[in-house]
Amino acid sequence: MNPFTYVRATETSGAIRALGRDSHFLAGGTNLIDLMKMGIVTPEKLVDITHLPLKHISRTPTGLSIGALCTNSEVADHPLVLKHYPLLSMAFNAGASPQLRNMATVGGNMMQRTRCPYFFDTALPCNKRVPGSGCGALQGYNRMHAIFGASDQCIAVNPSDMSIALTALEATVHIQGARGGRILPFADFHRLPGDTPEKDNVLEPGELITSLTLPLPAFPDHVHYLKIRDRTSYAFALVSVAAALQLDGGNVRAVRLVMGGVAHKPWRLEAAEDFLRGKPATVENFRQAAYLAMQGAKAYAYNQFKLTLAPNAIVQALKTASGVTA
Ligand code: SF4
Repeated sequence: MNPFTYVRATETSGAIRALGRDSHFLAGGTNLIDLMKMGIVTPEKLVDITHLPLKHISRTPTGLSIGALCTNSEVADHPLVLKHYPLLSMAFNAGASPQLRNMATVGGNMMQRTRCPYFFDTALPCNKRVPGSGCGALQGYNRMHAIFGASDQCIAVNPSDMSIALTALEATVHIQGARGGRILPFADFHRLPGDTPEKDNVLEPGELITSLTLPLPAFPDHVHYLKIRDRTSYAFALVSVAAALQLDGGNVRAVRLVMGGVAHKPWRLEAAEDFLRGKPATVENFRQAAYLAMQGAKAYAYNQFKLTLAPNAIVQALKTASGVTA
């Protein structure tokens, strides 16, 4: 690991002021420290933000506010989250291990980097790690990689389970920078790779995520987070689906569908949502929605299986969320 300077911040504006070039905010450190040990990220300074007052989970007039420094397990186990946003608890509990969930923060979860193996191997080309060096995965072993929204510069996927649920719940992100604050929809935080795959998200240099807000009314009843992976814990998604439904008798009144493990950002299935809205909640309609969701999917040499796995996962998530099996 390269030598670096360590600074501990006690208030938000001081943390932002302390961040200079080639420096990073340090929260739970569950991803950043690994990247530093492997020489993938080599900051000259770390600004420890763990003492900032960003650890609240509280009601607002329109929903719930979650501080960016809450740990994954604090949010997953909070009574208000369990009551109003069980989809979020499910997604948290599908991620990582209990030890990691106790350390990792909400803001850090949003900032975690892809788990593309070429990104982690400094001997191999990777446009995300070294812009312009090429993409080893494109012609390489791309079993875990994207089937939506990729570019010829990068076909990596976002690894966060939490972000899939937050996109489905239409959360908003609160950001603070030297020139003030801004709020943006969670769905607009992560980005597609395009020609600049080194940028995972739209955060500007020096900006800090301070909190998230979740709107009410939520989806308290008919929800499911289905994560399909190579082993049943401590593994990243091959494909995941966040499904949330509001049912009116046997009809779909409202629906949110977002997939993980398939794109550089949480992948919302708007065509499937549009098809299902107002229709009977039947397996036949779920299958048609999954078919529509897969339009435009493109697989690579080793991830062809996702073209079958993903629609099957959508149908299964909808069946489990709705309780409809036939
Ligand atoms: Fe790097 Fe992206 Fe290619 Fe993986 S897919 S090697 S992260 S550029």
